Amino acid sequence: MPRSALFSQRSLILTLILLLGCGFLATSLLSYFASRSSIRDNIVNTELPLTSDTVYSEIQKDLVRPILISSMMAHDTFLRDWALAGERDPTQISRYLNEVMGQYHAYTAYFVSSASGNYYQAKMGVLKQIDAQEPRDAWYFRVLKMQAPYEINVDLDMANQDKLTVFINYRVHDYHGNFIGVTGIGLSAEAVVRLIDDYQQRYQRQVYFVDRQGQVVLTGSKGGAHGARTGQALRELDGVRELLKQMPTPISGSYEYLSRNADSHFLNVRLVPELNWYLFVDKREDGALDNIRQSLYLNLAICTIIGLVVLSLLNAMVKRHQDNIETLATLDSLTGLPNRRGFDLLAAQALNEALREPKRLVALLIDLDHFKQLNDTHGHLAGDEVLRQFAQVLENCLRQADIICRWGGEEFIVLLKDSDAVKAQEVAEKIRRHTEQRPFNFADKVIRLTTSIGLSSLQPDDTLHSLIARADHALYRAKQSGRNRVCVEMSRSDDE
Ligand code: GH3
Ligand code: MG
Ligand code: MG
Repeated sequence: MPRSALFSQRSLILTLILLLGCGFLATSLLSYFASRSSIRDNIVNTELPLTSDTVYSEIQKDLVRPILISSMMAHDTFLRDWALAGERDPTQISRYLNEVMGQYHAYTAYFVSSASGNYYQAKMGVLKQIDAQEPRDAWYFRVLKMQAPYEINVDLDMANQDKLTVFINYRVHDYHGNFIGVTGIGLSAEAVVRLIDDYQQRYQRQVYFVDRQGQVVLTGSKGGAHGARTGQALRELDGVRELLKQMPTPISGSYEYLSRNADSHFLNVRLVPELNWYLFVDKREDGALDNIRQSLYLNLAICTIIGLVVLSLLNAMVKRHQDNIETLATLDSLTGLPNRRGFDLLAAQALNEALREPKRLVALLIDLDHFKQLNDTHGHLAGDEVLRQFAQVLENCLRQADIICRWGGEEFIVLLKDSDAVKAQEVAEKIRRHTEQRPFNFADKVIRLTTSIGLSSLQPDDTLHSLIARADHALYRAKQSGRNRVCVEMSRSDDE
């Protein structure tokens, strides 16, 4: 195969590999990124806000009523009158608190008086004295200084075996607006925690609450994202360093961030105004994208296999086509014998072998006699048919290994492998005789034909050209001396 053909075949295959590869890769990646972005969109714009909304409305349901109740208590004339009258007979206030607790199914109900520092509780009466040095009482002093009418505080309840409780601490004022204490009810945080747990498990997302200062205030029973526990500051949590750069203290919105172990996270943050807390709903991207990532890999694998199959089929087809073209290019279409191009390839190989071994090689140059006349008498088509039939004569007289070629027009060349001049002369004679004796047929006509042959045998320093030149010379002599005969080359010295 010529080098240029090889090169263009290789570059064709390479171009196709590139085209197919790029095409498949582009479509696979495009569809991957399209589904990824739609999944992300869905998480960021629908899933997380929806969870956030649902948790929010559950929380509202659970907390708005207690806030109203606490507000009602803070504005209750009995409570205020009793406190302003000097807190006499604590059983009265206890009964009042107990009533409220029972009626609204609260966990606890309490009043802390600023005048006496007494902590009155529904069941226990005076539970204790508020103490500025006691860390557990810090909440009271916070509410004392607070501008807002109330706060929600998740804390342990001393009156209920230190259970996690959501307290609504409402400021109580006298009729002139002076602070006289704090009242409110507490409810079990269990319901909220259960709700959070349920969401975390069912939807594979983390739900937790953070206050304005960035402190985790409420999580599910197993902790929030990254194992967050109530009371921890956001900055103490594992893996949210990237997030804190965007949001040192909570700000409502949608975020994407990388956790410490490089997991991509989506986060929705919203303020729950009633609680003055931020609700965090956090989802890891990984799980959500596993499916489409797998289908990307499958897609790429299928594309690679299809690409390889297509390319190998194409390669085989191109090769076969090229082989066909090459064979056609080296064959003569009239006789089916090799043409001059084919002969060049075959002869070069035969000559190399003969010179290397060394072996004998004989060339016969054959020219049909008076062929012009034959054409003139019987027509060109008859001439063609005679050429075809003469090719058969040659093939019948020669061995498989010998090289036969249509040299051009009505001239043929034969290379007899491993043959000496005597044997070759016999073969040449056989060709001549068969041609002379054989009737050539065209339509109903019988045509007679003779042939002249020049013979030369390979000398050690011969080239193909010099070998054929001597055969041509011998052929010339055969024609000169009357045609229908075989002439052998004269020795070189005679030749010169
Ligand atoms: P000579 O005995 O001296 O060889 O005489 P010739 O007529 O054979 O010699 P010449 O070389 O003058 O003529 C060869 C003729 O062969 C001329 C050409 O028309 C004819 N010829 C060459 N190729 C073809 C072919 O493919 N088909 C046919 N029908 N004729 C051809
Ligand atoms: Mg001729
Ligand atoms: Mg001729």
